Amino acid sequence: MRAVEAAAGEHGWMVNARAGLRGSFLAVRAMTELAMPVRCAGCARPGAPWCASCRAAVGQLPKAGRAAPTPVPSGFPRTWASAPYEGAVRRAIVAYKDEGRRDLAAVLAPLLREAVVGAVGATRGTAAHGLWLVAVPSSSKARVRRGDAPLEALARRAAYGVEGLVQAPWALALGRGVADQARLDHRARAANLSRAMCADPASAGRTVVLVDDVVTTGATLAEAARALRDAGCSDVVAACVAATRRRTTHPRDGVDRAGERRTGGIGRRVLPPVRG
Ligand SMILES: [Zn+2]
Repeated sequence: MRAVEAAAGEHGWMVNARAGLRGSFLAVRAMTELAMPVRCAGCARPGAPWCASCRAAVGQLPKAGRAAPTPVPSGFPRTWASAPYEGAVRRAIVAYKDEGRRDLAAVLAPLLREAVVGAVGATRGTAAHGLWLVAVPSSSKARVRRGDAPLEALARRAAYGVEGLVQAPWALALGRGVADQARLDHRARAANLSRAMCADPASAGRTVVLVDDVVTTGATLAEAARALRDAGCSDVVAACVAATRRRTTHPRDGVDRAGERRTGGIGRRVLPPVRG
């Protein structure tokens, strides 16, 4: 009996200690929230992590459509995307990937899913030997910096339940180190990624839906598709959350024509120029 009481007492102490710790944690969090109120990832307004007006803006986007950069890199796969890479969607993607806002998967996964469904629809007849979903690999530096693989997680969530689609995250890897693409122009990106990826030989004969967050110059998707085709894939298509429009300099007057060219299929309306 004494042992039971001792155990109960010990257990009670642990429960009290845990309750105390949780209480302290909640108090600290409440104080942090008072000092730094929750802000919307799309527009930075205080009050909600994803506000009603950003939700409405995303809800009004047109259906996912074909997307291709200008110029189109050699070997660029047929690609679908759900939004222009700007405004609230752009800020949400950056916050999701690089600012730890993994809760935004709830906002981004439905957009990616729409693009995945569009891409899968284009593979009818080519997927006799299996349809694989493969996220483009991120560099080991990026993995270490982030501590996880947010694109793979988003791809899993977006493709969950899509009929016939098998998740195959192992199918594609970076075979060598690459520099951060963010500050490179389209030629430097293509050179940086040239033959950088390798595909699992088991992908031979499969049809692959590649997944990336954003289409920019198209160099990443073109290299991923090259590696998969070299491994014997029968068809490669791609799906992205968003697509950017390229800044181009007019050859005659040198004027920056940002926004004059739209990425194909993204929206059926005139959009403001991409900034930044
Ligand atoms: Zn907002």
